[in-house]
Amino acid sequence: MQTHGDVSAKSTNRQFYFEEIIMLKKTGNRIPDLVVNWHLLEPCQFKCKYCYAEWEKTRLPEIYKDPHASSHLIEQIALLEHGRSAVRLSFAGGEPLLDKKLSAKIDRARDHQLAVSIISNGHLLKQDFLRENGKKIAMLGISIDSLEPVRNEKIGRRTLTDKQTDYQNIIKLLSVAREINPDIRIKINTVVNPFNFDEDLSELIDRIKPDKWKVLRVLPATAKSMIQAISDEQFMLFRKKHAHISCAIFEDNECMKNSYLMIDPYGRFFFNKENGEYGYSDPILTVGIEEAFAQTSFDEVKFSNRYSDGVK
Ligand code: SF4
Repeated sequence: MQTHGDVSAKSTNRQFYFEEIIMLKKTGNRIPDLVVNWHLLEPCQFKCKYCYAEWEKTRLPEIYKDPHASSHLIEQIALLEHGRSAVRLSFAGGEPLLDKKLSAKIDRARDHQLAVSIISNGHLLKQDFLRENGKKIAMLGISIDSLEPVRNEKIGRRTLTDKQTDYQNIIKLLSVAREINPDIRIKINTVVNPFNFDEDLSELIDRIKPDKWKVLRVLPATAKSMIQAISDEQFMLFRKKHAHISCAIFEDNECMKNSYLMIDPYGRFFFNKENGEYGYSDPILTVGIEEAFAQTSFDEVKFSNRYSDGVK
């Protein structure tokens, strides 16, 4: 296990942080909702060249395979509520729809009053899943980087048998999701990378009309993704092309770092370090969520700024 820097100082800071949350609650001030991203598993059908879903190998078991451990972790995540009006648990991956027990996890999360979101590449999204879970999901996020097969091929968005996602079908499925749950919020995630920075996705976004289009500059977070970095000019080109889209939120690298609360498949918080590696907390199921949270570099101010648009 890596070192966590000055853990005792951070613990004191976190203690202060929790006390501050309780104080805000008492004084009636609005406390921003919290979003916790649980990256259930590393596998994915695709092999995006910039993919960040790579974690330090450990002997710890993957939590998602064990229903008891999964329930325990969800229970711990719910403890982060600390007077907030809501904590949202976002199931991510790898590809979260590869988890055959995802529906049960959604139920457990709701048992603990957590709002639920899913961030998927959409390849395995089916009507049956939406019929079973659509009403329980607060936000459904689909990652789409390109509509062009050649670009998707270059990005790595194809299966080993050369299949790509049918985005016309995704558009239909997102309307089905809205029919099933008119309150569901739809988010599209796009990572601007060396193979799509000059593409125009305006028509797609206009057709889907998501509540939020999150446009992320490829983050050189891991050795693999570092090779996929793009220049300021390339990011700006994409940004300018889509500046007229009101639901678009553009995230450059700096505002992404430490503004996400992320849990890896082994039940550890992880965060970006300056050297292009992840840092990890101790396992949440071993030390408890508050102690593990104290070991992160989570930046509450950056987090709140990201959500200042009101669309969670
Ligand atoms: S779709 Fe997402 S999880 Fe899958 S390889 Fe691409 S970036 Fe990684």
